Amino acid sequence: MRILLIEDNQRLRKFVREGLKLEGMAVDHFGTAREGMAAITTVSYDAAILDLGLPDGDGMEVLRQARSQGVQAPVLVLTARDGIKDRVDGLNAGADDYLTKPFAMEELLARLKALMRRPGSALGATLELANIRFDTIAREVQIAGKVISIPRRELDLLEHLLRRAGRVVPKQWLEDELYAYGDEVSSNSIEVAIHRLRKRLDGANASAHIHTLRGVGYLIQA
Ligand code: CA
Repeated sequence: MRILLIEDNQRLRKFVREGLKLEGMAVDHFGTAREGMAAITTVSYDAAILDLGLPDGDGMEVLRQARSQGVQAPVLVLTARDGIKDRVDGLNAGADDYLTKPFAMEELLARLKALMRRPGSALGATLELANIRFDTIAREVQIAGKVISIPRRELDLLEHLLRRAGRVVPKQWLEDELYAYGDEVSSNSIEVAIHRLRKRLDGANASAHIHTLRGVGYLIQA
């Protein structure tokens, strides 16, 4: 999962970033409205966390503009303001939820996960293909009824492939989805993860297989 964090307070940004990383999320983080706006309109994020008071503008304006440009990612607004008017304005501008500072990391995570699980979003379902069953909320995979353990990065990879089962998923797209800016990604990171995941699935007698289309990407099919 790839999250955008726009918050100008460096300490808070670090705190939130670390908390999200511990949950296995890839985080792109910025401290200005300008950078945040550029990121939210160019990358397809699973969710964004947006501070309202930014040094070069109002987060509310970022939100309004992003929505007007068709950005659909759920947005959780962070603010020190507690007025009802701000809350209403934020929701009107397209925020999905609101969190007033100070907050506990647990609460932020719970709210964020709830936003990403909303019906209608691509997340939160059980994915099934042949004898593979992936519960995307519990992050648990069963093959032929048996739970198999899969490391987090490979799990994310499998989820992306299953959501597009039978279709080619470009390698570059997977790289963008699984790694944040600044993560160290070697040229064969995805290949290595695919290789391991394929061995794991075959070893558990999965009746769907991952195919490589050299130079293009990957697809999973029964
Ligand atoms: Ca601020």
